[in-house]
Amino acid sequence: MKKKALAAAGIFIAVMVSMFALNTYGSNEIIRVGLKACENITQTQIGGQTVMTGCSSGNKFTEIEYMDLSGGASVSKSYSYYIAVGGSFPSYSAAKAYAGGLNGYNAIPAFKGGGLWSVYIGPYESSERASQAHNNYPYESVVCAPSSNTVYLNGSGERMIYDSPGGNFAFAGDTLTNINGRTYRGYIELYPTASGFSAVNVIGLESYLQGVVPSEVPSSWNSEALKAQACAARTYTLHMLEASDKSLGYDICDTTHCQAYNGAGEEAESTNNAVSSTTGVIITYDGSPIDAVYCASAGGVTDDGAAVWGTDTPYLKSVKEIDGTAVYEWSRTYTFQQLKQLIAANGAQIGKLVYIDVSRSENGRIHSMTFYGESSSYTVEGEKVRTFFSSGEGGSLESRVFDISFDHSGGEGFSLVINGKGWGHGLGLSQYGANSMAQAGYTYDQILKHYYTGVEISGS
Ligand SMILES: [Zn+2]
Repeated sequence: MKKKALAAAGIFIAVMVSMFALNTYGSNEIIRVGLKACENITQTQIGGQTVMTGCSSGNKFTEIEYMDLSGGASVSKSYSYYIAVGGSFPSYSAAKAYAGGLNGYNAIPAFKGGGLWSVYIGPYESSERASQAHNNYPYESVVCAPSSNTVYLNGSGERMIYDSPGGNFAFAGDTLTNINGRTYRGYIELYPTASGFSAVNVIGLESYLQGVVPSEVPSSWNSEALKAQACAARTYTLHMLEASDKSLGYDICDTTHCQAYNGAGEEAESTNNAVSSTTGVIITYDGSPIDAVYCASAGGVTDDGAAVWGTDTPYLKSVKEIDGTAVYEWSRTYTFQQLKQLIAANGAQIGKLVYIDVSRSENGRIHSMTFYGESSSYTVEGEKVRTFFSSGEGGSLESRVFDISFDHSGGEGFSLVINGKGWGHGLGLSQYGANSMAQAGYTYDQILKHYYTGVEISGS
């Protein structure tokens, strides 16, 4: 008896704890990830598998029809007019059977929402053409204009038009979903845009993180570094959920602009373990999730939030990396001619370039760079020190940890030689630095507290 009561109490406590973790730290959050390769497009490839087509509204998937698209299929935005014939049908198969009996017409099952189907004949390029067809059709028909979310699916012997006001077209595979050559957990929604649609992966936070961690760092890295990355990515995502521009149709994009995410195809056992063993764990300051920015390599010392953004952020303070931290090194050389082009590309007019100087923050990172010319000078500050070079070979500089020197051995003027360390804005967690700390025996929470000043690790 006593043993049973204890077991019941144990279950009760476990439920309480997990509910607390879920409610407080959002591990049950649904994330909308914008797939940049499928942004503002009019057509994409899906399938290569069986697919449940559906309707997505408010991040909820409502099933429409199970289709075998093993041979692949395309989904395209529909700008065409159709005429609806034959009234309503209760299922895809009923609409398909009716369409199949309309000899001499291009007839396609069309989902109208609310579980009802129609059969569309067309397409017609204008409402006039559709009206003509409507007048000529021997039985009852209705002209249908394209809506912003109307799409046409075609492939593997299946065809359907999605034309429902109840949400956007969506689809999901049995476990993974294929689109444009990549695989995803969760489901894919085609969100209408001004020039077509954008594919959005609607997915649970923890499943999403399983794809983020190995897209951001090598899965072969030390497990404590992978856990630190999982917590930083989880916290950053929750921050983006609050901060993102909802008019885009997604919360976060899948490139390094926000956070790299190549889908489920990147997953590895080590990185999945890093996510599952830290489920719900986030980084907080004063009880709130922090803006957990991170970079590839801080180059020995991180930057101060105020130096990059101009606003003081208590947990983004400049900190030194531990001795022996692996540092990414790089170098660039710009000829006098290339420098002239870069100055012009930045819209500056300083006459013939004479000299270049830099100023450093207390932590040693470059704060500003000044180009002195015969008539005037031009100064760039903060992250503009990197982006000044964006139109040149190699693009923006890797980081703002560097030394400059001059090479006068060429013809006209001089060449600028830049030898640098680090990769990225230098704020918050350094990925290379985290792996070096993990190899030196630090745990993931110690790593996070090193790079984010004064924070708590919550939910562990
Ligand atoms: Zn982004």
